[in-house]
Amino acid sequence: MPHDLPKTYDPTAIEDRWAEYWVREKLFTVPTPAPATAPIQNQGLDGQSDGQSAFTILLPPPNVTGRLHMGHMLNQTEMDILTRWRRMSGRKALWLPGTDHAGIATQVMVERLLTSEGTSREAVGRETFVERVWEWKRHYGGAILDQMKRLGASVDWSREYFTMDERLSVAVREAFTRLYDQGLIYRGAYIVNWCPRCQTAISDLEVVYDEHKGHLWEIKYPVIGDDGKDSGEFITVATTRPETMLGDTAVAIHPEDERYLHLHGKKLRLPLVGREIPIVLDAWVSREFGTGAVKVTPAHDPNDFAIGERHHLPSINVMDDRAHINENGGPYAGLERYVARKKIVQDLEERGLLAGIKDYTNNVGHCDRCKAVVEPRLSTQWFIKIQPLADKAIAAVEEGHIRFTPEMYKKTYLNWMSNIYDWCISRQLWWGHRIPAWHCAVCHKITVPKPGSTGDPTACAHCGSDKITQETDVLDTWFSSGLLPVSVFGWPGITSSVGAPGPSHLGTREGITDRADFDAFYPTSLLVTGFDILFFWVARMIMLGCWFSAEVKMPDGSDRPLAESVPFREVYIHALVRDANREKMSKMKGNVIDPIEIVKQYGTDAVRFTLASMASPGTDIAFNVARTEGYRAFANKIWNAARFLFMQEQAVENVLNCGIYDYLDDEEFDNGPQWGVREQSPIEDRWIVSRLNAVTSAVERNLNDYRFDEAANSIYQFFWGEFCDWYLELTKIRFNVSGDKAKQTASLHALLQAFGVYEAALRLLSPFMPFITEEIWQSHPAFAVLGRRGKKAESIALAHYPRPEDFPTDARAESEMAFLQEFITETRSLRKEIGAEEKAVVPIELRTDAASRKIIEENRDIVERLAKVSEIKFADALSAGLAKHSTPAFDVAIVYERTIDVPAERDRLTKECSKLEKVVANDERALNDPGFTGKAPAHIVEGRKKQLAENRLLLKKAKDALDGLPEE
Ligand SMILES: [Zn+2]
Ligand SMILES: [Zn+2]
Repeated sequence: MPHDLPKTYDPTAIEDRWAEYWVREKLFTVPTPAPATAPIQNQGLDGQSDGQSAFTILLPPPNVTGRLHMGHMLNQTEMDILTRWRRMSGRKALWLPGTDHAGIATQVMVERLLTSEGTSREAVGRETFVERVWEWKRHYGGAILDQMKRLGASVDWSREYFTMDERLSVAVREAFTRLYDQGLIYRGAYIVNWCPRCQTAISDLEVVYDEHKGHLWEIKYPVIGDDGKDSGEFITVATTRPETMLGDTAVAIHPEDERYLHLHGKKLRLPLVGREIPIVLDAWVSREFGTGAVKVTPAHDPNDFAIGERHHLPSINVMDDRAHINENGGPYAGLERYVARKKIVQDLEERGLLAGIKDYTNNVGHCDRCKAVVEPRLSTQWFIKIQPLADKAIAAVEEGHIRFTPEMYKKTYLNWMSNIYDWCISRQLWWGHRIPAWHCAVCHKITVPKPGSTGDPTACAHCGSDKITQETDVLDTWFSSGLLPVSVFGWPGITSSVGAPGPSHLGTREGITDRADFDAFYPTSLLVTGFDILFFWVARMIMLGCWFSAEVKMPDGSDRPLAESVPFREVYIHALVRDANREKMSKMKGNVIDPIEIVKQYGTDAVRFTLASMASPGTDIAFNVARTEGYRAFANKIWNAARFLFMQEQAVENVLNCGIYDYLDDEEFDNGPQWGVREQSPIEDRWIVSRLNAVTSAVERNLNDYRFDEAANSIYQFFWGEFCDWYLELTKIRFNVSGDKAKQTASLHALLQAFGVYEAALRLLSPFMPFITEEIWQSHPAFAVLGRRGKKAESIALAHYPRPEDFPTDARAESEMAFLQEFITETRSLRKEIGAEEKAVVPIELRTDAASRKIIEENRDIVERLAKVSEIKFADALSAGLAKHSTPAFDVAIVYERTIDVPAERDRLTKECSKLEKVVANDERALNDPGFTGKAPAHIVEGRKKQLAENRLLLKKAKDALDGLPEE
């Protein structure tokens, strides 16, 4: 039966279909293994157990509010390539998807929705609000994962999670109660970054600093004399936030600052407020900056807070949650912070206490989420005591249990981890995991349930009162996502005969109460993520992962070592996608490329290939649509190659009455992947199989090193350059089904070999371009048989990934083919130069050594067909007056009746001579330079010498040819 593909390659027509197929057929679902009694055995795809461990990778969960952007597209392309590659290579490959509930982002989204309905969060109340968020999530929450499905990400959808799922919420509660029980969670007052818009504390990492042209206000604070009255002397302080003076509780000076020695021990009168405040001596104060005196507002500045602690100063909070002045601000109470600022400056001026206003550029922190100016503010929050969690997380990396690529991120990570503060985990939001702590109205103590318990407490654990209410704060969203590597595999609910880590009633994946998942998939193999969440997420997963998994015994009952406690063994930090001009994409600049739009235009495969072809560790990607267009053409070339093969097969079928498929039972094509490659096989067969060896080992090596670019480019070169441009052209020569029996057999061999090589190349390309390869692979039953070596696979994605050892190398075939290619290319370009007609078959003269002559003679049919040569005259010297090309290995001339254009040829040769003269001069200079010859490795110097000899020879040949030109 003839096989065919539509004439034109149209990605939109095929991609949706396969994306749906992969999901529907659950191709990438990895079931929970049977409980492990022995180390995990993996079913290799060839049916043998290869004993390799699972390849597990967690998708950095996108925000449930998210839409796919170019960064996701790059990240997911890289993860999908690696996962598909590992899966095809026989590993049990699990890529686990999910979404994050994204506290602030989601709350803001639903708040806006309420505003548009003319109501608000406060008006509807907490319970209704949370219901509305869930409702929103059910309607819109899956958008980004739907986009992933469409893009063919080979994740296990049966394991999709949401960080607010019941089972993951149980893990969050258990983690909190254990840490509290271990004395690692406490509640305390601290300066936090307060967002008055979102009305919550936000992490240091969620504050973005922008340069802001503002002012520095200089304010005079009167010194109080010994008589208790103003002495007439002042200390001048400077501030960018004058409204905070309402909360000043001291002025600090350096203890050795000579300007103020006489004021040691004195007090000041706080202007506008009238409060008496001390002058404190603190070596932290810089004498060089401003007047050398700083106002101290412990409740509104982290440095001042530290000074306040050192000197036991009171902290006076002067602002409310919305950044309005509160009752502590006296006459300014109720004013919005900037209105208050204006009024205060005005009042100071009226009282002659404003010494000056200077222009001043400073960095102002904004809330990353809503852009409001962040207000440092004292508040009561929940914290994780970072030690000993941080030390363990440092050891995991220092001892090499987690490897970073690019390696420089190891240093960044360690540096940050050694300067880490206690982690503020509370957020004043309504959407999130509500902190499992209860406040007692009677004794004011806190009740946190015991680890392993379920159900909420009904009475105070300290005084027994039932007047307890749950904490209103929720947990930072990174607290739950930091637990993912353990919680997605069943922690803490997993049980087993050895070392049960937690009671079985704690959350587990549906119906799974044993620890098989955990044993099979933890630690995960790899994390691929962006630099921006290295600290937010990566560091926290390491801290929490190492901490909690350590309590889970190894399958054999022994204690879990640190090497097995880490949440992942490798971290690959991917680069940024910039625009074609290397500018960062931003909405402001209007240069954002929407991946979905580009995919609509060129197909997912071409976009994936564009990203892969530029992705390497530490290098940003300048996304250029022109390249995507080029890879769309590449896909087209692959498509047409399949069509060409099918047409050849049709020709066979017409004459011999059977297709390729019928020959696959032939023993010659059934014993392993070395189909048809034998000593006596034609050179192109031996060569292309040897090239397959080279390209598969290049891909393997480069994917191991995260050199996606090198891997993609070598496949591209192989498929287009070697397979399509050379190999297919060569097989055409052997193809003659209308000839005698021997020719028919040779044709059949050629065709089977071409099918085999093409099929292997499809598999090689499949992780990079999953759609087109699936479409073509499924379009002919022979492919599935070739890919499975006799067994049919459901998908190319489950076929065997080509390995170097599948393909024998043949150094002789490679060097001979290289010579033939050079010879044919030179002859073709010479034909072009002399204007030989496209179809004209011309005689040539050739001077070369005996070995090369033998190659040409053995492959005369190839040379004649591809260089369109009618006759080859071997000579020691070429006839004068013929246009010729020279390489170190040969000189070739074309005997063509059209006389050569002497002036043009003279022009060409003159240019050639001057180019070669420069090259030779460069080589000579380098070789005479002791700085080069003395320092460069010997093989480089040798190579340069060889290059010089060759270039000298070429120069001589060009000069001779120029001299040999007839006079005009
Ligand atoms: Zn905000
Ligand atoms: Zn109590």
